[in-house]
Amino acid sequence: MRFDVVTLFPELFAPFLTTGITRRAFGSGAVDVYLFNPREVAVGNYRRVDDRPFGGGPGMVMMAEPLQKTLEVIDAQRGRGAPVVLFSPIGQRLDHGMVQSLASGDGAVLVCGRYEGVDQRFIDAHVDVQISIGDFVLSGGELPAMVLLDAVARLQPDVLGDADSHHFDSFNPALDGLLDCPHYTRPEAWEGRAVPEVLLSGHHVNIARWRRDQQLCFTARHRPDLIAAARAAGRLSAKDEAVLAKDGAGKNELL
Ligand code: SAH
Repeated sequence: MRFDVVTLFPELFAPFLTTGITRRAFGSGAVDVYLFNPREVAVGNYRRVDDRPFGGGPGMVMMAEPLQKTLEVIDAQRGRGAPVVLFSPIGQRLDHGMVQSLASGDGAVLVCGRYEGVDQRFIDAHVDVQISIGDFVLSGGELPAMVLLDAVARLQPDVLGDADSHHFDSFNPALDGLLDCPHYTRPEAWEGRAVPEVLLSGHHVNIARWRRDQQLCFTARHRPDLIAAARAAGRLSAKDEAVLAKDGAGKNELL
């Protein structure tokens, strides 16, 4: 799949694209990322990409024309039809479901805003979906773009090795959308705290049940809405329900 990122600061992406396990996706062609700076298609001596807002007020606004020209360059390379995403606090909140559908598609054009944002006429003319990463304001859409690309990359087959498999990751539909279970590594005792014994037992069935119980209780405590969703989807077994009932108000002896 191919992502085309429209950004005034392409240099922000270099370490991200070449570091850590996700670089396997970005380096292997599984997730191709191309960076486009609207300044390169902007005209005039100053290659202007922003201007003062009509109506006055502070800050600058990204101009529609250089953004549109950048889309034309991208269209010429990949063909029309890729969804155009704009990062914006007014957008739909990014979640696992959106990441999954992006991860199984052909990619998208990701437009990173800066300053006060983007001329509304560009949005009306070209943007298919606006995405927010939360109710706070960042200085630009580059970090949200990297957040999205990271989440999409780790869902690609063969990107994560066995050692860092996302099987137990939170929100995995294969595990009914529950939160991850707690993890432990050596030493067995650390500052008077022991590793739960079952994890040292080598008994795979017991370990699997323990992990499921932990997931259930963790999720009930931290995100009861996810338990409600799993229940509504008929994903909780009688055994699961018994564990949750025993957990009561989130006070499970297991935790
Ligand atoms: N004036 C705007 C904020 C502009 S911040 C407002 O108050 O809504 C500059 C750019 O950062 C935005 O155009 C957007 O691309 C990006 N951005 C800021 N916060 C974001 C968020 N929570 N999610 C996604 N993108 C965000």
